Amino acid sequence: MIDNYRHKGLRRKLVEELVAKGIKDDKVLAAIGTIPRHYFLDNAFVEFAYSNKAFPIGADQTISHPYTVAFQSELLQVEKGHKVLEIGTGSGYQTCVLVELGAKVFSIERQKELYDKTRVLMRKMNVKAKFYYGDGYKGNEVFMPYDRIIVTCGAPFIPKDLLNQLAIGGRMVIPVGELDKQVMTLIVRTSEKEFTKKEYGDFRFVPMLEKKNR
Ligand code: SAH
Repeated sequence: MIDNYRHKGLRRKLVEELVAKGIKDDKVLAAIGTIPRHYFLDNAFVEFAYSNKAFPIGADQTISHPYTVAFQSELLQVEKGHKVLEIGTGSGYQTCVLVELGAKVFSIERQKELYDKTRVLMRKMNVKAKFYYGDGYKGNEVFMPYDRIIVTCGAPFIPKDLLNQLAIGGRMVIPVGELDKQVMTLIVRTSEKEFTKKEYGDFRFVPMLEKKNR
């Protein structure tokens, strides 16, 4: 895996582009400026790793646009040491951004093929996060409550189990909607039984599907 001056230059440009599009959080921008996004794409797409596009990562799934990753990460407001549950490991790129922000990440992927492939890459990159093959609708009760929950696939509704696993004072960022578009939604748990909800515009994700897939 090579990260050369050309890649670094392309990354600087990408960060400038994200700033122009309204991303303000310096820590998020620094993380995106640090992580070699081309490691997460198949060789044929390396040239495009730093354009603001979504690309195939196998099993009919895509790595999210850098802008989407930046937007969700900014909204999440991760602090060092936070326990973060991620639904939809995919390529592992968003996972790495969260780890770079200081989070302890627990990431769930339902596609066995991607889970296996990404685990290999994460080991190579020495990324300290926990990866699970499972159904994100159920979250992961073992390590709850989570300070932050991020869903990186389009959810038709907000899963109850995820609300239950969110710490009081915790934030969940989840795109909610049907197949063609979803509304970026921020949920804050204000007490044991109370949640607030704010919406942040339309995005387009691959769908959040139920059950595991071999
Ligand atoms: N964060 C990823 C985005 C990948 S796309 C990245 O940076 O590359 C969304 C991912 O969510 C896909 O890999 C898809 O297989 C996964 N997914 C869809 N439904 C899921 C579910 N119920 N539980 C866990 N993962 C799911």
